Amino acid sequence: MSQATAYFKGGFVPLSEANINITTHALHYGTAVFEGIRGNWNEDRSAMFVFRPREHYERLIQGCRIMMMDIPYSVDDLLEITSDLIKHCDYREDLYIRPIVYKSEEKVANLRLQDLSSEFALITVPFGAYIETDGAIRCCTSSWRRIDDTIIPPRVKISGHYVNSILAKTEATLAGFDEAIFMNQDGSVSEGSGENIFMVSKDAIHTPFVGENNLTGITRDSVWQIAEKELGMEIVERRIRRSELYLADEVFLTGTAAHVTPVGQLDNRDIGSGEVGPVTKSLQDIYLEVIKGNNPRYSEWCTAISLEG
Ligand code: PMP
Repeated sequence: MSQATAYFKGGFVPLSEANINITTHALHYGTAVFEGIRGNWNEDRSAMFVFRPREHYERLIQGCRIMMMDIPYSVDDLLEITSDLIKHCDYREDLYIRPIVYKSEEKVANLRLQDLSSEFALITVPFGAYIETDGAIRCCTSSWRRIDDTIIPPRVKISGHYVNSILAKTEATLAGFDEAIFMNQDGSVSEGSGENIFMVSKDAIHTPFVGENNLTGITRDSVWQIAEKELGMEIVERRIRRSELYLADEVFLTGTAAHVTPVGQLDNRDIGSGEVGPVTKSLQDIYLEVIKGNNPRYSEWCTAISLEG
């Protein structure tokens, strides 16, 4: 029997008891850093395959450094807590694993990071598709520009900066699109509201530099390696303009939640055929097997947690 459990204040508690006080600093100011990790259920092997958790926790710790938050756990400790929580909850379906480090000081009107306490918490929730679609999605260019590294660093997952993504996603979905694509202040392409972006043009795959205010995506890195190794394709990291996306052969998004998501239209213009392109399809197919632990060439990316018995 699965049970909703959280790791909270140093121990495992029922999720309903993992609560914070209304005066908590992070609630008022977005002073938290989080991660989104996938647990992929493999029915044939009765195991949860957690995808690249070490890299996610390394990025969490990077965020903590920027936000001046100390937690008394190493990456190895965090991996162990994650594995214990998954066993404890015993969910036998795909999961979203959400660690968060937050400024836990119960004190309002305090606009500093120093001398404030921090806490680590971890929850897991059953989680299927992030963007419901059989084929390619429809995107729009957001009227909201991407926050710049000079404003709030977007390379890590700082809670407060997600207001930028939420404004963009809200605007896009209320207008009938599936996802928003951010431009930077200077008009160069940044990323989706919760995904990195790639375009296929001729025989190469192009993606913006992380310095274009992207998250340092772990799916981005995985798909990059798969495209080079499995498809023998060259990846070009460079500044991309909006009109290049319109004229690309294929555009796709990558993210822990979104996996590899094909983009069929941008701003009501078909990209290529407007359907799922062949490169995107191959990458999507390979990636979905890799994250379930079904491809031995990438088994080091998956941590298998057996739920047998
Ligand atoms: N950009 C943003 C803004 C995101 O929230 C995410 C999801 N974490 C990504 C990109 C993709 O990153 P990853 O592949 O590490 O999940």
